Amino acid sequence: MINIPKGTKDVLPAQSYKWSYIEGKAREVAHAFNLLEIRTPTFEHTELFTRGVGDTTDVVNKEMYTFEDKGGRSITLKPEGTAGAVRLFIENGLASSPMPVKAFYITPAFRYERPQAGRLREFHQFGIEVFGSKSYETDAEVIIAASSFLDKLGVKTKLELNSIGCPICRAEYNKALKEYFKPHLDEMCETCRTRFEKNPLRMLDCKEEGCKKFTAGAPKITDYLCEECNSHFDGVKSLLTAQGVEFTVNPRIVRGLDYYSKTVFEFVSDAIGAQGTVCGGGRYDGLVEQLGGNSVPAIGFAAGIERLMLLMENTGASFGEEAKPRIYIAGMDEKSRAAAFGLANGLRKAGCRAEIDHMNRSVKAQFKYADKLGAEYVAVIGESELSNGEVNLKNMKDGTQEKVKFENLLARICK
Ligand code: ATP
Ligand code: MG
Repeated sequence: MINIPKGTKDVLPAQSYKWSYIEGKAREVAHAFNLLEIRTPTFEHTELFTRGVGDTTDVVNKEMYTFEDKGGRSITLKPEGTAGAVRLFIENGLASSPMPVKAFYITPAFRYERPQAGRLREFHQFGIEVFGSKSYETDAEVIIAASSFLDKLGVKTKLELNSIGCPICRAEYNKALKEYFKPHLDEMCETCRTRFEKNPLRMLDCKEEGCKKFTAGAPKITDYLCEECNSHFDGVKSLLTAQGVEFTVNPRIVRGLDYYSKTVFEFVSDAIGAQGTVCGGGRYDGLVEQLGGNSVPAIGFAAGIERLMLLMENTGASFGEEAKPRIYIAGMDEKSRAAAFGLANGLRKAGCRAEIDHMNRSVKAQFKYADKLGAEYVAVIGESELSNGEVNLKNMKDGTQEKVKFENLLARICK
């Protein structure tokens, strides 16, 4: 017996409707916000992520599934969706189409992490990316799209918002951070010490308890924003407020990936344990250029589908109804079984969910099985029904029975 790899999950037949439900809601939101689907490969050249996600991130430093293919290329399974989306945008010349380009994706992602509740090695994301607009309206729209998605799923989360500024104001802020962290550096983790040199902002994202006690008192980025970043942030906040989207400004939010600028945000829940962030995103104005394109501003988010499912399960949210067979058609002997087969085939062609016996069960056992399946109707064909060209149709909800001609069956049950 070969087991499933650690940190991965099967989706079982009786659970898959939950996936369809969540993905369906994602598509509804994407539709309403005029976002078009993109699909990128499961693997990319490793360099896309080292350059695109950033080499001071946990994702690139510790979590990537990287291997050499038979042609000697370094390949990485995508740990997130944005870098691939940006590559797609650049490589296909989408910069010359009318802006903005508004895209969404639903994708698996792979990270070598310590598996625990809400943290897997293969997980799935619904994400959106909007390229080409630097206006704060776009930030607000993207945040509201995320918020609508969460509303549709019936989950309650808190929106935490921050601005991490642009390269200009961040330079000032990084200086202040370095001054602040310098005396504590000996007591902080090795990763933080590396980040101190390369990208001090990222120290705020450290999850080590020993480091958190220092990051808590660090200077706030919001006190260092330049005029442009400040008024952009004000614009985002006022649009959200006007639309009744509640948020709190949390200056500690810097996001796990290197490419962000200006607006960053997370939707957080306290109902699923330590891994509380169900959706995170932000603006990444420098990334397209960094990956070899023109200077094109962009903003997006990614929501973790497994975490959302966990949150929905923990809070009793609805996944809708799992579809049941509309009708089960039982035959008594070989001839009536053949008639049942033909009837089911006809109903299926019309899109009506029909089921028959595959296991040579007795009629009694077929009834029991049909009930287990949750079939709304059970049609029985015996000798007399067969010679009359009809079925004995039982409504499983109210128990009523009637004879229905073969040719009237579709109209009778699938109105
Ligand atoms: P975390 O703080 O949990 O490490 P992150 O900052 O690494 O999250 P992002 O890269 O922003 O996460 O990914 C967006 C979303 O994808 C997260 O908010 C989360 O819902 C989900 N996610 C990230 N990593 C995992 C994982 N290993 N397993 C399941 N879901 C994940
Ligand atoms: Mg992470």
